[in-house]
Amino acid sequence: MVPTVTLNNGVTMPQLGLGTAGPGDDETRRRVREALTLGYRLIDTAARYGNEVGVGQGIADAGIPREEVFVGTKLRGSDQGYDSTRKALDASLNRLGLDYVDLYLIHWPLPRLDQYAESWRAMAEMLDEGKIRAVGVSNFLPEHFDRLAAESSVVPAVNQIELHPWLPQREQRADDDRRGIVTQSWSPLARGGDLLEEPVFATIGDRYGRTPGQVILRWHVQLRLVPIPKSGNAERLRQNLEVFDFELTEDDMAEIDTVADSNRGSGLDPRTHEEF
Ligand code: NAP
Repeated sequence: MVPTVTLNNGVTMPQLGLGTAGPGDDETRRRVREALTLGYRLIDTAARYGNEVGVGQGIADAGIPREEVFVGTKLRGSDQGYDSTRKALDASLNRLGLDYVDLYLIHWPLPRLDQYAESWRAMAEMLDEGKIRAVGVSNFLPEHFDRLAAESSVVPAVNQIELHPWLPQREQRADDDRRGIVTQSWSPLARGGDLLEEPVFATIGDRYGRTPGQVILRWHVQLRLVPIPKSGNAERLRQNLEVFDFELTEDDMAEIDTVADSNRGSGLDPRTHEEF
């Protein structure tokens, strides 16, 4: 059983989920079904991933009651704006085959487009209408939250940001905390490459009989973050969920902190990054 965190509107969300960026509908369907069967209860997708149909099919295949699965999707850049946001959520629900999503996020702020506050107004309405259980954002910085706060009384429940031991995002995490926003970690394993080869993870993992990936995911959990690792491999899918039955010490956590190196993040800056 994955523990849950409580969002600022009282909705509970599992503390670890499955990321789905990349694969198409058929492979996504297989992964989602497998993950749910293993015990995952949070699925992260996005209109931009082009696999919401597969996510919906995977949920249906797993045969788990709808209310036991927490489904999050995202508003893509090309759909930002008041009317287009309303239409975009309906289209996502249609592809997912669901009546509501548990979490709807603005995928990127796209400050040059200057439509995120209008998009937020539509999302707050659809929250009231019951099409969404919690609204949030992704890749938002303090300046973007200030703008939302000036125009809306609805505080985002979640900020999904790039976060892993190379890029621990201490300042953004503190800002999210101060505002009562739960931070979800995207690319929690830094896309599974060289980060896992940092010797500290094998050393610590050996002490607990865990893999480097499990040590990294446990680090997220102990920081009260919500990682959403992706895997298409049955063994790694299982391993990534088994991080709630061991504990890192303060010394372990401090040792992991020493690998921080922001130059090894993706380099995508929310002030300038644009994707539609
Ligand atoms: P990630 O989860 O950090 O890494 C995934 C990669 O790591 C895969 O290639 C996987 O390979 C490998 N892997 C998984 N578990 C492993 C383990 N235990 N040991 C070793 N390797 C492991 O990267 P991500 O997919 O970029 O991020 C996760 C999710 O975050 C995405 O799928 C998406 O849902 C979300 N995301 C959101 C945004 C945003 O802007 N909001 C941006 C990027 C990503 P195998 O498949 O072979 O296991």
